[in-house]
Amino acid sequence: MLGLYFHIPFCAAKCSYCSFYSSPTSVAQMDAYTAALCKKIQACQSETIDTIYFGGGTPSLLGGSRLAQILNAVRTQFTLADHTEITVECNPDSIDRPLLQALHTAGVNRLSIGVQSAHEDELRLLGRRHTYCQAQSAIKLAQSYGFDNLALDLMYGLPGQTTAMLLESAEQLLAFQPAHLSCYGLKLEEGTPLFRAHPILPEEDEQAETYLALCRMLAAAGFEHYEISNFCRPGKRARHNSKYWDFSEYLGLGAAAHSFYHGKRFAYPQDTEAFIRGNIPVLEEPVNSFDTRAEYIMLRLRTAEGLCRTDFEQRFGDFSPIEHTLLPLQAHGLTICDEAGCRLTERGFLVSNAIICLLV
Ligand code: SF4
Repeated sequence: MLGLYFHIPFCAAKCSYCSFYSSPTSVAQMDAYTAALCKKIQACQSETIDTIYFGGGTPSLLGGSRLAQILNAVRTQFTLADHTEITVECNPDSIDRPLLQALHTAGVNRLSIGVQSAHEDELRLLGRRHTYCQAQSAIKLAQSYGFDNLALDLMYGLPGQTTAMLLESAEQLLAFQPAHLSCYGLKLEEGTPLFRAHPILPEEDEQAETYLALCRMLAAAGFEHYEISNFCRPGKRARHNSKYWDFSEYLGLGAAAHSFYHGKRFAYPQDTEAFIRGNIPVLEEPVNSFDTRAEYIMLRLRTAEGLCRTDFEQRFGDFSPIEHTLLPLQAHGLTICDEAGCRLTERGFLVSNAIICLLV
């Protein structure tokens, strides 16, 4: 079934490491943007959907009533499957009672909260607007409104961060019994304030050890490591994001939103005002069969299941060149190849770019 994605390109302030498309906003702009999204929804072909995801930016900044307005438009235009997953990304500093009440009433059943660290100095370095204390209060408040399907974000590879510090942050988050944890390595993106500050990041080997230590900790806590950066309790995978990795279709609405819909990839330009004026998405270059195959390999090798032999053969034909490349890496503990197909181990995840280069 189809997934729906809404990009909310607003943030109260820019974090020091962030290169996503987002900017400060006003009440008038948020109203106009919500109206533009509703208009686009009304123009969509009616279909059955089973996931809805509000990403950003900071969707929680839009406020409960605007998010509910968008969901009402969705319910009018689309058919929602039973147990549709409805996720809203939230920052701790924009979580409050009116927001949670409105989201609960609107049927939102999953919150993704950008905590990033349990250390105040790390949060300051990242330019986050919240303290860890605020994050704790936000999580508790969300739980008190019945949001038990919580996804929390952490970052590793921060300047000055040791393995012990990351594990301490993870331990703090585990105390809230989240359903899902995402853990992303910091990348210094050109043009960001953090990039310009030339911080010294932990050495690659140190980052690798930190990542593997986190994997061990989360496995011991009962989490499934189902994607390079994502861990969940059994049955709590992010169903919407899984569509990106398994080549399912999704329709994205909003400035900078991407779609893979009816076999085509297209995206709205990174221009909020143009979206409000009603611009249309731009078709991305038609991919040839080699590009499609490379993209499939890249996305599937991010997951614990990896490349499924039968599925690959149905889509692209002979699987044996893949197997001949990946099988020798098994002796180095980087891959596992069996009857089902080939996948990367956690050590393999660490060098996934190099392995993908070998394949494509
Ligand atoms: S809240 Fe997220 S999208 Fe907004 S500036 Fe920070 S990292 Fe970027």
